[in-house]
Amino acid sequence: MPTTTQHYDIAIVGGGVIGCSIARELATDHSVVLLEKEQIASGSTGHATGNTSVVTGFHDNSNFAQYCNDFFREYDGTREFSYTERPRVTLIPESMTKDAKQLAAESAANGFETAYLPAEELEENYPGVFNLEKFVGGIEYRDIGWVDPYTYTTTLQKDAEASGAEVRTGVTATGITVEADRVTGVRTKSETIRADVVVAAAGWHTRKLLEECVELPIYPFRWQAVDLDPGRELGDDYPMGLDIVDGLYWRGEHNGLLHVGGGEYKVRNPGSI
Ligand SMILES: Cc1cc2nc3c(=O)[nH]c(=O)nc-3n(C[C@H](O)[C@H](O)[C@H](O)COP(=O)(O)OP(=O)(O)OC[C@H]3O[C@@H](n4cnc5c(N)ncnc54)[C@H](O)[C@@H]3O)c2cc1C
Repeated sequence: MPTTTQHYDIAIVGGGVIGCSIARELATDHSVVLLEKEQIASGSTGHATGNTSVVTGFHDNSNFAQYCNDFFREYDGTREFSYTERPRVTLIPESMTKDAKQLAAESAANGFETAYLPAEELEENYPGVFNLEKFVGGIEYRDIGWVDPYTYTTTLQKDAEASGAEVRTGVTATGITVEADRVTGVRTKSETIRADVVVAAAGWHTRKLLEECVELPIYPFRWQAVDLDPGRELGDDYPMGLDIVDGLYWRGEHNGLLHVGGGEYKVRNPGSI
């Protein structure tokens, strides 16, 4: 029979980038416990590419994108992880030229270093990097980069712990406790942890974690990534790239490998993974 232990302001389930970010933010003025069933960043986070492509998704919200870039630049100062800034080129086929030019102009008008470059200019700026057979140009984003997701997340974890958060790894939350329609804590095999607020940050497992309380209409989707030997030195000026026709992106790793990702698909039967 599980015993009831200590009371916390906040119990977080999941030690991925989301759980650790929330723990870091809240531990400064709340008592926080974080439960992770395996190790920190052992879920999607540890497998991620770590592209912080905020400008490409939020070029129309310049304050938000600028805040994210500034955050990574400043936080990199901890020296626990590194934020690598590198231009990214989205390759554009002829059918998308008009939209691409408009997107680049909007992003530039919002203060970002973004430009549409025709194929000849791409070849001039990045000689021999792109196979431009299917493309007439590309959008070059310069306010972009990547982090190593594992060290970034363990940095968040360490910050949270330095502010007093208790991080417990190898502990599975088996359910959420509810009394009189209020969430009161988290159950594990051996104890019930009482908390005023429970944060479900279990990634694609969140549906299962909450199934006794609420039916979440969410499904996971799978994303692929692989590190390849490029057969040549890529160098520090090798740009990040995105081929929107085939849905593939790539970038150089610091260890000389070429990281390639894409090919996502929805998983309708999560029990199968
Ligand atoms: C190949 C790949 C490439 C990607 N590339 C990028 C990218 O370039 N940029 C980007 O922004 N995003 C990228 N993503 C997406 C990104 O990885 C996810 O959005 C992000 O990591 C989700 O973080 P999370 O904390 O929500 O989930 P997770 O990292 O999955 O964390 C959830 C954690 O909860 C734990 N957990 C689950 N159930 C329980 C339980 N019952 N009790 C205790 N612990 C539990 C798990 O073990 C896990 O560690 C990529 C993903 C993949 C797979």
